[in-house]
Amino acid sequence: MKMNKWFRRLLICTTMCLTMFNITIVVEGAHSDELKKDQEWSYSGKTGPEYWGSLDPSYVQCSNGLKQSPINISTSNVVKSLDQDQIKFHFKPTNFKVLNTGHSIEVVPGNQENILWINNEQYILKQFHFHHPSEHEINNEKFPMEIHLVHQNSNGQIAVVGLFVKEGLQNNVLKNVFKNVPKMPGLEEMVNNQTNLTDLFPKEKSFFTYEGSLTTPPCTEGVKWFILKEPIEMAETQISSFSELYPANYRPLQPINNRQVFLKSLK
Ligand SMILES: [Zn+2]
Repeated sequence: MKMNKWFRRLLICTTMCLTMFNITIVVEGAHSDELKKDQEWSYSGKTGPEYWGSLDPSYVQCSNGLKQSPINISTSNVVKSLDQDQIKFHFKPTNFKVLNTGHSIEVVPGNQENILWINNEQYILKQFHFHHPSEHEINNEKFPMEIHLVHQNSNGQIAVVGLFVKEGLQNNVLKNVFKNVPKMPGLEEMVNNQTNLTDLFPKEKSFFTYEGSLTTPPCTEGVKWFILKEPIEMAETQISSFSELYPANYRPLQPINNRQVFLKSLK
């Protein structure tokens, strides 16, 4: 009984501390409204993916959209494209910030000099983050993880590069990210080592491309997707350091409808 009472006190104290901690985050957040709204959706239960569209009027595309992501990529239906889209990466070494957003671990580069060129149009890398397991599937198979590199042009249009992850060797480019993963939502860490994210890409650079959406609310459409066909590797320990925090942060597959997936090569 004595122990129980002590435990109850500890629980009350912990709850109070957490409540205080939450308040601190909301007050300190530069976009406290956005943060509050962000916390209203989740990956399961009554705020899970099947309810996203009704959680907020601005999330309506999550349920009404016809060009949503992720999708299953059926390789027998993919069209090999020979047109000469100019897709180029010009990434420079950068330091970065690692954030725990409450939905994933997000890495924000310290500069705006990581450029994805699509037909002479410049898209700047804003952040990249992780999903466990993968959101996109190839022939109805998931990979252990998927990384999304989110780029934006000066008109606010978004291009996401997706990298599948399979279990294998330690990923040295991501070593500094996984050494510094903030365990609690709202926390962030600075990593001052200079990292060139070009080293993250697989050797074989053919990619699937299609038009889709953000895979999190507000599920905005008009997103250009570029998904590298060859997976990259991460060590089992690196994968589990993420999955311990986020065991299932993926949106279920969305109907492909009238869309075509193309296979192209990076020049
Ligand atoms: Zn994502």
